[in-house]
Amino acid sequence: MQEEKRTHIMAAQKNIALIAHDNMKPEIIDWCRQNKKSLEHHFLFGTGTTAKVISEITGLPVRGFNSGPLGGDQQIGARIVDGKIDLVIFFSDPLTAQPHDPDVKALLRIAQVYDIPIANNRATADFIINSSCMNSEYSHKLINYKNSITERVQNVVKTVKE
Ligand code: PGA
Repeated sequence: MQEEKRTHIMAAQKNIALIAHDNMKPEIIDWCRQNKKSLEHHFLFGTGTTAKVISEITGLPVRGFNSGPLGGDQQIGARIVDGKIDLVIFFSDPLTAQPHDPDVKALLRIAQVYDIPIANNRATADFIINSSCMNSEYSHKLINYKNSITERVQNVVKTVKE
């Protein structure tokens, strides 16, 4: 499907979502500690438990949503759609089944649709946080969803009228 594109600009100060499954929480805390100086320049969000433990242990201000299994991943996904999250650090657990696996998949998919950088392991997170894009504006092309809806509506109307 070919869609028309529009330019979207991420500000220099990024809105970062932080998520970690239970076995990975020590790892994300350690990563946040290690990168505290960089993270301090941005706005931080997270699923409920992850946000709270990072705040408590590192002192970084992290706005928490619901816990992941109770819809926190979906809240972050919705904010990606609204253009309010620019990047996701998601230390998922590849070795443990999660009750909210469909939500995790949905988050990965919506991040892909909106061209959002998403790190699901520490090495990727390190590459992202050390990128020059972190502290400057970043311009990218997204599907023009408004035009896409208009076009679809026109097609449906045309089909039912014929
Ligand atoms: P939590 O959710 O931060 O509330 O533990 C994370 C997740 O499991 O997606």
